[in-house]
Amino acid sequence: VPIADAISPLSVDVAVVGSGPAGLAAALAAAESGLTVSLIDERPAAGGQYLVGNDVGQSAAVAATERLGAYLLRQVVTAGIDWRLGSTVWDLDSRLTLRLFSHGQATALKTRAVVLACGAREQVIPFPGWTLPGVMTAGAAQLLAKRYGVLPGKRVVLAGSGPLLLATAARLAALGAHVAGIVEASHPRMWLPHARAAWGHGDRFSEAWEYLGTLRRGRVPYRFGQAVVAASGEEKLERVTIARLDAAGRPLAEGCEDLAVDALCVSFGLLPNTELAQLGGARLLFDPRRGGWVPDLDTSLQTTVPGLFVAGEAASIAGAAAAMSAGRLAGLAAARHLDSIPADAFEPEKARLEDRLRREARFGITLNTLFAPPPGLDTIITGDTFVCRCEEVTAGEVTAAIANCGDWLTLDSLKIWTRVGQGPCQGRTCAPILGRLISRETGRPIADAGTFAARPPVRPVPLHAIAAMERTDVGVRQ
Ligand SMILES: Cc1cc2nc3c(=O)[nH]c(=O)nc-3n(C[C@H](O)[C@H](O)[C@H](O)COP(=O)(O)OP(=O)(O)OC[C@H]3O[C@@H](n4cnc5c(N)ncnc54)[C@H](O)[C@@H]3O)c2cc1C
Repeated sequence: VPIADAISPLSVDVAVVGSGPAGLAAALAAAESGLTVSLIDERPAAGGQYLVGNDVGQSAAVAATERLGAYLLRQVVTAGIDWRLGSTVWDLDSRLTLRLFSHGQATALKTRAVVLACGAREQVIPFPGWTLPGVMTAGAAQLLAKRYGVLPGKRVVLAGSGPLLLATAARLAALGAHVAGIVEASHPRMWLPHARAAWGHGDRFSEAWEYLGTLRRGRVPYRFGQAVVAASGEEKLERVTIARLDAAGRPLAEGCEDLAVDALCVSFGLLPNTELAQLGGARLLFDPRRGGWVPDLDTSLQTTVPGLFVAGEAASIAGAAAAMSAGRLAGLAAARHLDSIPADAFEPEKARLEDRLRREARFGITLNTLFAPPPGLDTIITGDTFVCRCEEVTAGEVTAAIANCGDWLTLDSLKIWTRVGQGPCQGRTCAPILGRLISRETGRPIADAGTFAARPPVRPVPLHAIAAMERTDVGVRQ
């Protein structure tokens, strides 16, 4: 796919942000209805988080979904879509004007409808030593391995909860890493009551079974009901400390074990990327079954802002197949919103996609429920653990601020008080951690902590590029 935007238009009917399975399906559906479509992604290659890289260590079930995605990609390439790879969207306003940054330039793109398909990010529960070189997220290790064939280290431990640990461990083992263990916080006895939800998802099980086969051959131990509670080393990671967890997920002091490793890959599941939806003025709601803070959507995947749609894991953590179905529905719904397809063509297709999505979402809900990090696990966040890596703010500083904020306690008041969330990631990593800390300290539900107020730019952009924009017709926000 060419990296092209030197002659890109200044306005389109539909802009799709994100070229993963959801974005590809949305762009194709909207383009098929005759609308002009821009497909924007900050990465240099299309495909998102799922459709990247080589085939090493991949199960047959994944290969089948990837083949479907690759087919979709080929269709999109020939659909006359305006591709903007290597372009970061850093602002979206309620008039549906996007602001992008690419090739050193900030530009504005007027649209009549937007589909946000910007995927998810990983959740991490911090612990002492999590900022040491050698500690990374499982997704980062997977991307290194998938796209570049690079291993995170020679002796690796994966820790956290959820199927991403299993998939990543199998891939690393297949590429030749010595995987010293998978440390999974949940326990199979917690999974049994949810067994019925697995019905009809045999492909997911055969995928897991293939990964387990790779791990069995590599003699990789799976430790259930345990967590990494510390990482240590002189200048980089040398060892991890593993503890057993009690029924509430609190680490037990007795029986801790040290393992020598040079890489630790951590993941506690995925959280939807909602900041662009929020900037556009869409209402969010807290739904842990969909992954936490998510946009409030109608049955056409439209937000509370007319013409602004959200599809895929930016709306609900449910896997690549669900993302493709949601993308198609959002693309068609955007076309319907702009009167580019008639209701009698849209409604039956919508009903078919809704049906499929419901089935796929059910499995996602089960995984999100089963592998949610238990509240007791938050006790691994000690006072001197950094919770905001960008601004180097510790949990101790945050808990002192929580005590001082009194009735004014919100994420934004913590931001003013301690500088959390003011760094380059704009709170994407620390906001969920802060929500958990507020809940731990006050006993109130996580939802009560709310979210940071969204502010542009959501990604770092050079100031001179924004300043140069003011001379264009759309320009920056007033
Ligand atoms: C780290 C990680 C690892 C995963 N590993 C697995 C796995 O091993 N097996 C599995 O089955 N599933 C895995 N998943 C889930 C799988 O990737 C998703 O189900 C699927 O990719 C969701 O598709 P999507 O289109 O919603 O989002 P994605 O595929 O994530 O695509 C989102 C795209 O949006 C782009 N984007 C985001 N924000 C902006 C912006 N501001 N400007 C421009 N572009 C932007 C991103 O660059 C990305 O290309 C993983 C997900 C993550 C996040």
